[in-house]
Amino acid sequence: MRNLIRGFLNVLYPPYCVICGELLSIQEWDNGLCDKCNKKLPFLTGNRCNFCGRRLQFGEVCHSCLEHRPVFERGISVFDYEVLRQGIARFKFDGVKGHGEVFGGIMVQYLLLNHPEWLEQVDFMTGVPLHKHKEKERGFNQADILCKIISENTGIPYRDKVLTRTKATRPQSELSAKERHENLKNVFIAQDCLDKQILLVDDILTTGTTLNECSRALYRAGAKKVSVFCLSVRE
Ligand SMILES: [Zn+2]
Ligand SMILES: [Zn+2]
Repeated sequence: MRNLIRGFLNVLYPPYCVICGELLSIQEWDNGLCDKCNKKLPFLTGNRCNFCGRRLQFGEVCHSCLEHRPVFERGISVFDYEVLRQGIARFKFDGVKGHGEVFGGIMVQYLLLNHPEWLEQVDFMTGVPLHKHKEKERGFNQADILCKIISENTGIPYRDKVLTRTKATRPQSELSAKERHENLKNVFIAQDCLDKQILLVDDILTTGTTLNECSRALYRAGAKKVSVFCLSVRE
């Protein structure tokens, strides 16, 4: 019955591959990916900055992290943002929640393949919070969906009330680097994380300001170590 309803919904809202945007055949519906993308997921590869995880020609730390070391210990991202631009827009702005579930599943694959040690080292994960008005408007928080799927499939506990956004802010994407920092100063507060090793999850790492401010709040509340895990990174 469930499949029948799902099939019916899929006819009304045909599913697209979360990565390349191709219309999926019926056989591909379950994966949320076309066979081509599923066979070869375009994960980030090559030399990466030890701190933020951005692509690096040579060396171990990028120019930006040499100037200002991120507040978090380490950042890992799964894809280049450009590869997922459309898929992320459908997920966040068109409210295609199913895309988030597929993305979460891919993050699990990536984690198990590249950082299985995190399963032991992390006490719990939490996501970048939206302001409650924003979450109501969107209907969900993208980081929350990713965390739920990752937690269900890895056993890493998920705590959703650790970070709170205390006020609504302007979208970071509209602001300059300096304004981004001012915009988010003291906006996040954290609780229940004393001496904990935390995996902080979000969909995009851009300048890192949001993730830095969340990390700062976690450390202020006594966290031992904050690592960042993002679906994508913008170069
Ligand atoms: Zn595809
Ligand atoms: Zn860096």
